[in-house]
Amino acid sequence: MAKICMKTPLVEIDGDEMTRVLWAVVKEKLILPFVDLKTEYYDLGLLNRDATDDAVSAESAHAIARLGVGVKCATITANAARQEEYSLKRLHPSPNATIRAILDGTVFRRPIIVNRIKPSVNTWKSPIVIGRHAYGDVYKAAEMEIDGPGKVELVYTRADGSERRVTVAAFEGKGIVQGMHNYDASIRSFARACFLYALQEKLPLWFAAKDTISKIYDGRFKAIFNEVYESEFKTQCAAAGIEYFYTLIDDAVARVVKGEGGFLWACKNYDGDVMSDMVASASGSLAMMTSVLVSPSGVFEYEAAHGTVQQHYYRWKKGEKTSTNPTALIFAWSGALSKRAELDGLPELADFAKRLESSVISAIEAGEMTGDLAKFSVPAPEKILNSWDFIDRVAKLMRA
Ligand code: NAP
Ligand code: MG
Repeated sequence: MAKICMKTPLVEIDGDEMTRVLWAVVKEKLILPFVDLKTEYYDLGLLNRDATDDAVSAESAHAIARLGVGVKCATITANAARQEEYSLKRLHPSPNATIRAILDGTVFRRPIIVNRIKPSVNTWKSPIVIGRHAYGDVYKAAEMEIDGPGKVELVYTRADGSERRVTVAAFEGKGIVQGMHNYDASIRSFARACFLYALQEKLPLWFAAKDTISKIYDGRFKAIFNEVYESEFKTQCAAAGIEYFYTLIDDAVARVVKGEGGFLWACKNYDGDVMSDMVASASGSLAMMTSVLVSPSGVFEYEAAHGTVQQHYYRWKKGEKTSTNPTALIFAWSGALSKRAELDGLPELADFAKRLESSVISAIEAGEMTGDLAKFSVPAPEKILNSWDFIDRVAKLMRA
């Protein structure tokens, strides 16, 4: 069988633990036999990040900026326990944060829908995609413990030295205080990325915040979304039949649970953190959630939403063939190859990416699945497959 050709290489970013083990199997069994794969490879395994003083993380992000499309394996975000486990020189920042900061992107997470796996919310028919603003708010907040009576103020000192102050609270006893921020430029890129994604995927776009309570802070998010819509996207959205609407976050949550899905939900940073886990687990399994980072400059990084599945890795090291679900990893590859195909005008490669996804879905729908899905499958599968057997079944369907 002649292999499918590529033009531009993908940026391939390898990672850690169980996902690194499965990464190699997915490539060997599902990609390399069919595609004359071209990649520029970066090893973001923890040991290589340490050996390169983490330079490799930034290099991989610059490669995505240069080549346009990357595919990334899950990576360990080091903490004290990991520093000891891997004898690291120091604690490096999360590679995802490094890549996001360089590409200035927004992360979109979409569950993979399979007929046999029933969502916990039985009205959901189509995926709910979460677009999470990945900068600021509580994630970059300054916090302080208040140890007794006194006044807390916000003080803004302008570049020219002049000041503005507002009182946060007068404390009569102990308490806590927090100062959050965001930048217009960051909110604007977030809004743009959401409109671009909605147009690309032909999904209605919802944005929700709490501007009735937070009139200035959330009010600014609402105003910037509206301004970006009116000035850049209204005509395109109308032409594509795509609706944009703003609502309050509590109203959005109520509508999501009663609705059928099939829309992009743009969330502020904290809302996106919480709601993406809610949508993922209500849709079945963390291993059925894909994730793509879209930068305002139009470059894309595809990955699975889950982590390195650490506990499975320790069992694999002891010789067990674990039942770790490779679906989201496979979809990271198909997503990246499909985007490469679109950008390079390669219909054969686009067909391959579709066939890869439909083979995974067909396998699961035929009852061939890993343990995480077996719990939600109706009817229950006759047996649970390990990852290697599952990948073999998919490979067989690819050849059928
Ligand atoms: P995790 O790797 O997502 O795993 C959490 C649990 O979810 C697993 O123990 C497993 O449950 C289940 N799970 C996740 N993916 C699965 C899959 N493909 N198949 C079957 N079950 C799956 O999260 P974590 O254990 O909190 O984090 C482990 C490491 O990953 C950490 O070092 C963290 O820094 C890193 N991480 C990386 C990324 C990223 O690179 N994007 C994201 C998140 C976390 P059971 O054990 O019950 O089977
Ligand atoms: Mg979270």
